[in-house]
Amino acid sequence: MAVGCVFCAIIEGKIPAQVIMRSDDIIVIKDIAPKAPIHYLVIPIKHIADITALTPDDAAIIGQIFIAAQMLAKQLAGSQAFRLISNNGSDAGQSVFHLHVHFLSGKTMTDF
Ligand code: 5GP
Ligand code: ZN
Repeated sequence: MAVGCVFCAIIEGKIPAQVIMRSDDIIVIKDIAPKAPIHYLVIPIKHIADITALTPDDAAIIGQIFIAAQMLAKQLAGSQAFRLISNNGSDAGQSVFHLHVHFLSGKTMTDF
């Protein structure tokens, strides 16, 4: 838990969010400002600011993020194509400094 962190506040139930799934290690919520018909955020429960703050002990958590993405894809109604994005650093577009991966689906995304 980090003071002032919006995702920690969501994890602790202090800010409401639409929760798609949750385990001991990760939570998946709907993004409040979706950029695609399906836009989830896969977030570790542990407050980790960004990828540069990871330690080898966090490897299992990162693996669970990809396994969660696989589970989310299986639940999609149409195409199971999806895109994962993790913005790292403000110059890359990161605005919430609690590590997270965007899960985007439901539209064609051939641009990069
Ligand atoms: P970033 O810009 O750090 O890559 O992604 C942060 C994401 O968190 C943004 O897409 C933004 O819409 C989302 N977000 C910010 N505040 C909240 C919130 O209070 N609730 C939810 N569900 N999403 C949020
Ligand atoms: Zn946090």
